[in-house]
Amino acid sequence: MTIRNSVRLACLARESPDPLTAHITRADLEALDREDRLRPFRDRFFLPEDTIYLDGNSLGAMPKAVPARMREVAEEEWGRDVICSWNIHGWIDLQTKIGGKIGRLIGAGEGETIVADSTSINLFKVLSAALALNPTRKVILSERENFPTDLYVAEGLIRLLDQGHVLRTALPEEFPEVIDDTIACVMLTHVSYRTGRMYDMAKITEAAHAKGALMIWDLAHSAGAMPLDLAGVRADFAVGCGYKFLNGGPGAPAFLTIAKRHQDRVVPALSGWFGHAAPFAFEGTFRPAEGIARAAVGTPPVLSLAALEVGVDLMLEASLDEIRAKSLRQADIFAGLMEQELADHGFRRVTPEDPAQCGSQMCFAHEQGWPIIQCLTAHNVIGDFRAPDIVRFGVTPLYLGYTELWDAVAILRRIMDARLWDAPEFHRRAKVT
Ligand SMILES: *Cc1c(COP(=O)(O)O)cnc(C)c1O
Repeated sequence: MTIRNSVRLACLARESPDPLTAHITRADLEALDREDRLRPFRDRFFLPEDTIYLDGNSLGAMPKAVPARMREVAEEEWGRDVICSWNIHGWIDLQTKIGGKIGRLIGAGEGETIVADSTSINLFKVLSAALALNPTRKVILSERENFPTDLYVAEGLIRLLDQGHVLRTALPEEFPEVIDDTIACVMLTHVSYRTGRMYDMAKITEAAHAKGALMIWDLAHSAGAMPLDLAGVRADFAVGCGYKFLNGGPGAPAFLTIAKRHQDRVVPALSGWFGHAAPFAFEGTFRPAEGIARAAVGTPPVLSLAALEVGVDLMLEASLDEIRAKSLRQADIFAGLMEQELADHGFRRVTPEDPAQCGSQMCFAHEQGWPIIQCLTAHNVIGDFRAPDIVRFGVTPLYLGYTELWDAVAILRRIMDARLWDAPEFHRRAKVT
C-alpha cells in the first residue's frame, strides 16, 4: 500500500487523520456496516449461508423476490393463461420495457435500449451495424486483452462479410492516441474483466468521433456497478450482461443500445421476425420495426426475462452514486487489508490505484492463483480466477458488507500462512474457472 493510500484508508475507516496509526481493525468495519445506507438492500438477496460472496461481478446474487415472481409467471401466466399471455400479460413488450429500465441505469436516452439474446450475439448485431454505417473504412479497433468473446465475434463477422475488414488491437494505455482516421469503429469493454481497469468513456468516445469512428461500449462489468451517461458522452452503441451486476440470473438475457440518431439507418444483420415492423402480418420480406425494436430477433425467453426484471427493479431502487461510492470505498479497504495482512505473500495488485480508472472489482496477480482460489472456495470465500495468474474479487455494494472484507482477508491470510492451498485437490483444474 502506498502512503497516500494508507492515509486515505485510515481516514475512510476510522475518520482518523493520523497516518501513523493507519491500521484497520474488524471493529472499524463493523462501524462502517452500521452506518451503511445501502445495508437494507442486503436483506433483499438470498445469500448462501456462512459464505462470503466476492463473485457477484460474474454471477449476481439472487434477489429474494425472484422465486415468487417466477412461480407467478409460470403458474398464472404460462400455466393458466397460456398463449394468451403474450397479450394479457404483456409478454410481447417485455424486451423493450425492461430495456427501457436498463436504459435508465446506463444513462441511455429513452427508446435506445432493448433486452435480447446474449452479450455475444448483441455484439455481433451492433458491430455489423457500425461497419455498415461506416462503409469506406475497414478497421475495427479493440483492446488486446478484451474479453475473448468480443474479439471472437469480430473475427467471425469479418470472415462472414469477406470485405477486407481487419481487427486491430492495442494496449489500454495506447488509447485514445491509437485511434486514427482508418478506424471504422472502436469496440471496447469499459471495465476490464481481468484487471478491473476502467476507461474514460467520455474521452475515448470523443476521440473516436473526432477521427470519424463509431464507438461501441461493452458494459458487461459496468451496468449496475456505477452511474453511466451513454447519452451524455454520445456513445453510438452499447451492449451488456443481465446476469452480472444486474442480478438477472444465470444466462439472463443481455441488452443492447443504439443511439436514436442511428436507429433509422440500422438494417439488422440478424433480421428476425421479432424485429419486423409487423411480426403478425407474416409478410414475405423483412421490414424493420421503428426504433430500437428492430434489434430484437426471435422469441425471447419469457421466464428469464421475468427474473431479470426483478433484478433490474431492485437496482432502480438504489442510488448508483451511493453504489459507486461504497464500491470504491470497499475496494480501497480490501486493498488496504491485503497490504496490511498479506504484504509478504506474493500478491501484486493489477487494478489501478486511481479510482477514476477502477471498476468494481479488485484483482491481484499471484503465481499460485488457481489453487489459492480453490482453497478459498473450500473455506466459503468465493472469488474467482482468470488465466494465467489473476485472482479476482468482485465488489457488489448492494449485498456485500464491510466486515466481510475483513473476514475474507483473514481467511486468505490463514490459507497463505499455513500453505493450505498447496494440497493436491486444489491444484486440479475444473471446467469452469
Ligand atoms: C461476461 C462478458 C461477456 C459475456 O458474454 P455472453 O455472451 O453473455 O456469454 C461478454 N463480454 C464481456 C466483456 C464480459 O465481461
